[in-house]
Amino acid sequence: MNSDFELANKRVVIASNRLPINVSSKQGLLNITPSVGGLATGLSSFHQGNEGLWVGWPGMNPGNAEKKQELEKTLHDKYNCFPVYLTSTDLKKYYQGFSNRTLWPLFHYFSTYTIYDSSEWSVYKKVNQMFCDRLLEVTRPGDIIWIHDYHLLLLPQMLRREIPDATIGFFLHIPFPSMEIFRYLPWREEILEGILGADLIGFHTYDYTRHFLSCTLRILGKEQVYGQLTVDNRTVKVDTFPMGIDARRFSAAASSPDVINERKLLGKRLKTEKIILSVDRLDFTKGIPERLKAFERFLDKYTQWHGKITYVMLCVPSRTKVREYQLLKSEIDELVGKINGRFDTPGWLPILYMYRSLPFKQLVSLYSSADLALVTPLRDGMNLVAKEFIASQVNNPVGALVLSETAGAASELGEAIIVNPNDINMMAEAIAEGLSVSGEDKKSWIESMSKRIEKYDIFKWTEDFLNQLCQVKDRQELNRQFFLSDKKQSEMHSDYENAGKRLLLLDYDGTLVPLAGKPEQAKPDSEIYDLLSMLTKNPKNTVVVISGRDCNTLSEWLGGTGVNMVAEHGTWIRETGKPEWQLTSGDLTAEWKENIYPLLEMFSVRTPGSFIEEKSYALVWHYRKAEPELGNLRSKELADALHDMVSGTGLQVLRGRKVVEVKPAGVNKGKATLQWLEKYDDWDFILAAGDDWTDEDIFSVLPDWAWSIKVGFGPFTRARFVLDSTNKARRVLQSLGNIGTQ
Ligand code: UDP
Repeated sequence: MNSDFELANKRVVIASNRLPINVSSKQGLLNITPSVGGLATGLSSFHQGNEGLWVGWPGMNPGNAEKKQELEKTLHDKYNCFPVYLTSTDLKKYYQGFSNRTLWPLFHYFSTYTIYDSSEWSVYKKVNQMFCDRLLEVTRPGDIIWIHDYHLLLLPQMLRREIPDATIGFFLHIPFPSMEIFRYLPWREEILEGILGADLIGFHTYDYTRHFLSCTLRILGKEQVYGQLTVDNRTVKVDTFPMGIDARRFSAAASSPDVINERKLLGKRLKTEKIILSVDRLDFTKGIPERLKAFERFLDKYTQWHGKITYVMLCVPSRTKVREYQLLKSEIDELVGKINGRFDTPGWLPILYMYRSLPFKQLVSLYSSADLALVTPLRDGMNLVAKEFIASQVNNPVGALVLSETAGAASELGEAIIVNPNDINMMAEAIAEGLSVSGEDKKSWIESMSKRIEKYDIFKWTEDFLNQLCQVKDRQELNRQFFLSDKKQSEMHSDYENAGKRLLLLDYDGTLVPLAGKPEQAKPDSEIYDLLSMLTKNPKNTVVVISGRDCNTLSEWLGGTGVNMVAEHGTWIRETGKPEWQLTSGDLTAEWKENIYPLLEMFSVRTPGSFIEEKSYALVWHYRKAEPELGNLRSKELADALHDMVSGTGLQVLRGRKVVEVKPAGVNKGKATLQWLEKYDDWDFILAAGDDWTDEDIFSVLPDWAWSIKVGFGPFTRARFVLDSTNKARRVLQSLGNIGTQ
């Protein structure tokens, strides 16, 4: 595996809602300027150096076909960009609608602001499909496709359907909410499945990653192992990549003559002892009214600061056509007016409110002059302003940072004064505290935070994500080698055909029949019944079903097929034609059950949906019907408790698929398999198929040449081959059965 090398040779194709350029039209002439957002900067080396492409909305629709073509040509020739042209209805329903009235508020925990409109959902799907079509036109085999953000949640799966082996990464720039919030979405399954089309899925913080994995488990029933999920035949990785900034650009700008000059001008204009600063898009997630209220409370309580501080509040206009944003703007205007009206004096205005965007140098001049930055969003995926402030202060640390605990950046910037943005008193106190921090403390805080910001900057972030994406692809490739390919199946067929004595060892649940919610629901259907009967009729075949089930169930369900049966994971054996079940070991006891049963009972009471199954020499606690996360947690606790209880008693504890089982040590499917292997010296064909941990014992005792097959894709197995479903396992057995009858 050499992913750095691979990455250097691959073209990266980005898809995001907006292209990294601004297009405007003046007197019929198009004016295009590149934007210098974090993502565009971070990807610049891939975007330009490796002929990378970018697909997205250019910000305007020139209307007539000729103008569209002209824009398309310029975007392509000069910026390697490919436009997706949106109509005003698309923008209304996909962008202002589903993206910003459904996903944005819900993912930021503003469920009461969330609108669920199925016509907006339809247009969202349509626009995602338009992005997919555009990508299909411009990508070529071997490209890395990197999809960004909440506007394009369905795109990974749409692309996957068209290009099954594509390399697709997805990164979400906003929070991924907890399951309790996400489940409100009427289209929750489609959205999760949409994202799972990617090979690598990235989030800013570990919490968002955890929430996503919890949703895939509880909504789609997909279990993760170390952040890896299996989707169809693919391993999909989910991981955390806290997005960085171009830290050097900010620190260098802060020491540049232009910015030093700007700072002097600012100082002269403001004539204040201390500057408090906030920089936000005007958005309801940013907690601007709450912060203003906290500032008012601070002024009420700490009158000694009157006349000595100025709060510079920069609000960048955003989504101005959405009603909630218009209402918020009025609320903020009123609050600022009220506070300034209450406290201003001739020569002192407490709040300097700017409702616009500032050029880079002026922004850095503000960042580097501020004695205190207030970054107090109610919820924020990451918040880059906090990082930009630190980076701008690094060469001359004069400021402290008040940071909201609900901003993604808080998990990296622990030296800041951390606040609950809903706690007005706490924030007022934090403002007072921040203004009084000693110069020495500020220096040491800024130094430690800036080290982290410089180390994991936007370039490292980009490289890290793309490298991991290549590694996931490598791993998928490796896994593919274990798939029982058509070629291997033909080899198996000829082995089978040429063999005189064949042994077929088959697990039942999850291998021959799909797992069911309740054990009694997994009765054999006529197809599997006939298939087993057909296989056993061939005199060259010895067919053994090795199951964890009890003797009665196996006799009742499979007795008529003529198979040999092994019950209770190797405790009992019944050979074809013999009426009696026999114990595989002579020294088994069952008295221990009465000591263990109460513990299992306690866990059943504490875990709704779980139940106990009693077998002759085993006790099994089933939790398939329990809520998945609770079931997993309790199963670990139960296994721990049981391990303590059974040590030195000759019993063993097994954690199988959605079960915890206690039974005598020394009994397992591997031992039972050995008994069958030893019946003849000259088996010349052996096939074993199983889906569970307990079947690994079978695989481990087989000779190297045996055809061992793990059913269901998972990261670890001793089997030589993998098939992804019971259905495929049946087809393989069917094809063997057919050979015998031809
Ligand atoms: N910003 C800007 N012009 C301004 C003020 C801010 O371009 O006048 C930028 C700022 O530098 C930062 C971004 O806007 O990179 C805000 O990013 P953040 O993650 O803090 O919040 P978002 O707006 O993405 O929710």
